[in-house]
Amino acid sequence: MQLYKSQNLKVYNSLSGKKEIFEPINEDHIGMYVCGPTVYSNVHLGNCRTFMSFDMIFRYFKHLGYKVRYVRNITDAGHLENDADDGEDKIAKKAKLEQIEPMEVVQRYTVDFHNTLQKLNFLPPSIEPTATGHIIEQIEIIKEILEKGIAYEVNGSVYFDVVKFSESNDYGKLSGRKLEDMIANTRELSAQDEKRNPQDFALWKRAEPQHIMRWPSPWGDGFPGWHLECTAMSTKYLGETFDIHGGGMDLKFPHHECEIAQAEACTGKSPVKYWLHANMLTLNGKKMSKSTGNNIYPSEIFSGDNDILSKAYAPSVVRFFMMQAHYTSILDLSDDALLASEKGYYRLMDAMDNLEKVKIGSTSDFDLAQWKQKCYDAMNDNFNTPILIAHLFEAVKHINLIKEGTETITEEDKAILQQTLNTFAYDVLGLENQVVVKDDSNTLDGVMDLLIELRNQARANKDFATSDQIRDKLTVLGIQLKDGKDGTSFSVN
Ligand SMILES: [Zn+2]
Repeated sequence: MQLYKSQNLKVYNSLSGKKEIFEPINEDHIGMYVCGPTVYSNVHLGNCRTFMSFDMIFRYFKHLGYKVRYVRNITDAGHLENDADDGEDKIAKKAKLEQIEPMEVVQRYTVDFHNTLQKLNFLPPSIEPTATGHIIEQIEIIKEILEKGIAYEVNGSVYFDVVKFSESNDYGKLSGRKLEDMIANTRELSAQDEKRNPQDFALWKRAEPQHIMRWPSPWGDGFPGWHLECTAMSTKYLGETFDIHGGGMDLKFPHHECEIAQAEACTGKSPVKYWLHANMLTLNGKKMSKSTGNNIYPSEIFSGDNDILSKAYAPSVVRFFMMQAHYTSILDLSDDALLASEKGYYRLMDAMDNLEKVKIGSTSDFDLAQWKQKCYDAMNDNFNTPILIAHLFEAVKHINLIKEGTETITEEDKAILQQTLNTFAYDVLGLENQVVVKDDSNTLDGVMDLLIELRNQARANKDFATSDQIRDKLTVLGIQLKDGKDGTSFSVN
């Protein structure tokens, strides 16, 4: 029997504002779509948190025995600077700035995105489609919405008519906004604005002569509006109605609201059964922002190369830190919080290592069946990873007592405990046992001290070929050297 048949999973649905019993449309299959990154810069740590929340959800569904088709797109066109319908395309702007092709920008940051997620031990999605690979599908959807009379063309651009749509549909139902309020709170359209109402959004934008990313369409050369790609790709790979749509909280409006409107205008059906939204990551109590400098990249955490950090942290520690918060809560990152997570992570890994070596007894002082179900209950309650981790630490406490000889465990229970810990720590939370970065790893420290000394000697002798070779070969092995005012330190990724 598949595990999901014995577990009673509830998820928080943003559409209803309630926790609901999870029942997929087709009994053992799940279709899940998550809005992916816009690949115009290195992946943001906040985005990593959002994607990690859905990676954990994907992992738990798989563990429960569902067949999951997980689609996470790459936005490589159509995302304009201010998320509204004006400003430059983010990718085209970067391409102009660096004087390279837009597709070079896309390639560079897609590679960075994949590398970062791999370090954090993400599972790849089942399909990772791109906006530029689905221009034809997007044009077909626009034609359909135009035919239904819910969009209009002006000078080679096509806009979605929100007011017309609202006559028979509830625009704003996901974000809890009312069209009347939105109209009352928006500025008047300027004379040169092509839209009929300020709430209307672009399905297709005419490309001005200087616009480098352009495709032919029935309305002339142009490019698709940002919201459209997700409707095109989710419908293509998951059908007109599918189980789960996820993304960051900030995408609820306008992006996800517009996705619902586009799909309903086309098919007359609500496209998604459960809308799941992940909350944001703050840094030292404040919103992360590139412009204020309150910002940190994943690579800086792995190397320790940022002033707010006292040291480097292994990707699994970062993952453990993120899993210690519920995905719907705001999580604040700081050096102290990472230090605390690092301690917790090693305590868990040490206990799992120690469990292998403990002596077997004739009785168990610990009710394994009850504890195991408590772990499932935590995950079944809208993927409550902090409660799950609290239960894992209850097991850690028992393992330590068994190791001391204060408690005992039978052979059978030991096997159940090992298997359950492996399931939740590795398969569901996605942690890896990265023992090599432990502070008490004396051998590694000794070897590294020797290599750093040899490199310093080479540099003193102006033998830069040798010093660079030491550094580069270590980088290949995943060891980063960091030169600071107190000498050279190292970190292991
Ligand atoms: Zn999207």
